[in-house]
Amino acid sequence: MLAALDLARPMLGLTTPNPAVGCVIVRDGEIVASGATAAGGRPHAETVALAAAGAGARGTTAYVALEPCAHQGQTPPCARALVDAGVARVVLGCRDPYPPVRGRGIAMLRAAGIAVTEGVLEDQCRRLNEGFFARVTRGRPFVTLKLATSLDGRIAAAGGDSRWISSPESRALVHRWRREADAVMVGAATVIADNPRLTCRIAGGRDPLRVIIDGRLRTPATATLFRQRSQAPTLLVTTTANRARAERRYVKRGGSHAAVEIIPAKSTGGKIDLTALMRDFGGRGWSKILLEGGAHLAGAALAAGIVDRVAFFVAPLVLGCGLPAVEGLLSRKVRGAVHLANLRANAIGADLLVEAEVVRGRTTAR
Ligand SMILES: [Zn+2]
Repeated sequence: MLAALDLARPMLGLTTPNPAVGCVIVRDGEIVASGATAAGGRPHAETVALAAAGAGARGTTAYVALEPCAHQGQTPPCARALVDAGVARVVLGCRDPYPPVRGRGIAMLRAAGIAVTEGVLEDQCRRLNEGFFARVTRGRPFVTLKLATSLDGRIAAAGGDSRWISSPESRALVHRWRREADAVMVGAATVIADNPRLTCRIAGGRDPLRVIIDGRLRTPATATLFRQRSQAPTLLVTTTANRARAERRYVKRGGSHAAVEIIPAKSTGGKIDLTALMRDFGGRGWSKILLEGGAHLAGAALAAGIVDRVAFFVAPLVLGCGLPAVEGLLSRKVRGAVHLANLRANAIGADLLVEAEVVRGRTTAR
C-alpha cells in the first residue's frame, strides 16, 4: 500500500476532478505490475496496472489506495476489470465517498468471489485524496492555510518586508504543495506588499490556478500575476458590482502573458462571501486550495470556517513589532478562539512546520 501511495502522490493536482490513485499487483510477495491514475484523471490506476500485468494478473493480489469504481463511465468500471482479469484478492486503503461508487465497488468484487481487505493505511489513503473527499462529501475544496511567521507570530516586519522569513527548504516544500493544489489563493494586500508569482518553480512542476480575493479592486494592474507567462490563468474574485470595471482593468487580450479571468462573487459591504465562493470552486471541480495569506484573508477564512488545515512555517526569528499572522478574528476569550486538533511539528531546514486540523463548528464568526 505504501508503494501504491508513492505512485499516486506525484499525480496529485494533475488528475482533477478525479482522485489520484495508485495500484500495485503482487504475486508471492513480488510486484508484477503497477500503475497510477493518469493526468486528466483517466485511465484509472487499476486499468493501467492490469494492462501492464496482462495475463499475469490471474491469481494475484491488487493493492489499491481507493475503492475501485463501480460505475460505467467512458470506460467499464475498475471493479469489473479486476474480476475479469482473475485477480484473487484486493486490499483497499479506503472507501470511495462518491455516491455512484460508495461500497458498490467492494460489493461487486465480493459478489465475484474476490477476497477484499479494507482499511489498510486508511488515514494515509484518506489524506492523499482529502481534496477529493472534501469536494464529494461537502461540495467544496479542502483548504490549507499556509503562512510563514517569526517565532513571535509575525508574517512581516513593521516596514512590510516579508520576503525570506522562511528557509529555502520550507519554500521548496511550498512549491510542492502548489503543484498538488488546484488553486493558490491570496488577498489583494499580499499582492500589493509582495508582488508574488505564485507559480510552481520546481522541475517537472505545473502551475496552479492563482486566485486573488479583491472586493475593492486594490490590486495594481501592473502586478506580476497579470504579466508573467504561465499555462494556468490568474483569476481575480471581486463583487458583482465591480465586475465590469475589473474586466476593463485587468483582462488584456493577446500577448504571451497568463490569461486573466474575473470571477464575480457574492459579497457584503465589499467583503467577499468566502463560504459561497468555496461552493463555486467546488462546482468548478477544484479539490485543493492553498491559501497563502495575507493576515486579513487568513482571518476572514478562519472566521468563515472554510479552513480545514493550518500549516505555519515558524522561522527562527523574533521580529517584535510587525504584522500579525492573522487579523480580524475577534476572540475575547480563549474559548472563543479557532480550535485546532492533532497539532504536530516537523523540522524543515531551519524552520519548524507546525500543522493542525481546524475543529469544525468551533470557529468564531464576527
Ligand atoms: Zn476506476
